[in-house]
Amino acid sequence: MKKIQMVDLKGQYSGIKDVVNPAIQEVIETTTFINGPKVHEFQKNLENYLGVKHVIPCANGTDALQIAMMGLGLKPGDEVITADFTFAATVEVIALLQLTPVLVDVEPDTFNIDVDAIKKAITPKTKAIVPVHLFGQCANMEAIMEIAHEHNLYVIEDNAQAIGATYTYSNGQKAKAGTIGHVASTSFFPSKNLGCYGDGGAIFTNDDALAHTIRGIVNHGMYERYHHDVVGVNSRLDSIQAAVLDAKLVHLDAYNQARRDAAKKYNEAFKDIDSITTPFECGTADNHVYHQYTLKLNGVDRDALVKYLNENGIPCGVYYPIPLHRQKAYQDERYNEADFNVTNALVKEVISLPMHTELDDEQINFIAEKIKVFING
Ligand SMILES: *Cc1c(COP(=O)(O)O)cnc(C)c1O
Repeated sequence: MKKIQMVDLKGQYSGIKDVVNPAIQEVIETTTFINGPKVHEFQKNLENYLGVKHVIPCANGTDALQIAMMGLGLKPGDEVITADFTFAATVEVIALLQLTPVLVDVEPDTFNIDVDAIKKAITPKTKAIVPVHLFGQCANMEAIMEIAHEHNLYVIEDNAQAIGATYTYSNGQKAKAGTIGHVASTSFFPSKNLGCYGDGGAIFTNDDALAHTIRGIVNHGMYERYHHDVVGVNSRLDSIQAAVLDAKLVHLDAYNQARRDAAKKYNEAFKDIDSITTPFECGTADNHVYHQYTLKLNGVDRDALVKYLNENGIPCGVYYPIPLHRQKAYQDERYNEADFNVTNALVKEVISLPMHTELDDEQINFIAEKIKVFING
């Protein structure tokens, strides 16, 4: 059996090496390291893939979120509602811009932001909602857009974990994750579903004026060379990363399907174990791209299971072990523990298993068998 890894980047690379290596070489030979033709090509190809008018590449997913918020003109003191159960980057940029993060609870089944909790958290100062498509599954965008419309709020999708997922509206219409809100951010961190070989990110929007504003912000606030109209940042996707991403984009649907296939096999293996809840799939199969495969444990000693799996050569992860509202940097006296029952429970129950495009049946069976032995004795 191949060594089990949380994410097998080497195995994936060996399948595309013959395309990726010359693409990287070409960037080096032409020395078009920054803003080279590869960046533009990738941008166009990603726009076509997503069916979105504008993709603005940038340096990483955290920058993408920050720049999206800057582009919307959010001002210090504006309240931004987001999920308590997510990676810290989401709330970090809100705080960094001196906006007020308002963390709310998530749904127990999908782990995504709870629509009723959003409604409860809205005040006259609320300006935006940031749903995170956590672990690769789309948040309840139809309801979120409805609330946003009703209260005149912006919606910024944090799509770092769900690129390629397809959201289906109740009328059957479909849209790619990240093309539904006013603006979206994504990350091309190597372990994400579409990852480069370094750092990378992008912002998506269908709004021409916002796209123009953002293109200036990523480039020191310049719309005309050496004319700095707004305070911007320096956030670029370099050409080598764009070349890697362009080579991988054509495989994205197949990569996501491989993840779904692996998830299905895990689900099947765990279906008779009462103390394990397999991931809830909301809507159609293409709604979830399994950035993570995350189980909920009921009455199982998680720390002991993590230790047992590691001893058996099986890596695993706990995403996320601490609710954001209890992190030192993001504590706020306005928060009431009773409003975070779901997140407070999830941080103790979740465990994520190896999930990537190269997992084979032998590995999945081995992982499932070990977990069964641990639980059933
Ligand atoms: C990875 C991630 C980010 C940040 O992306 P970076 O490229 O690492 O800056 C933001 N939000 C979520 C939900 C993520 O998973």
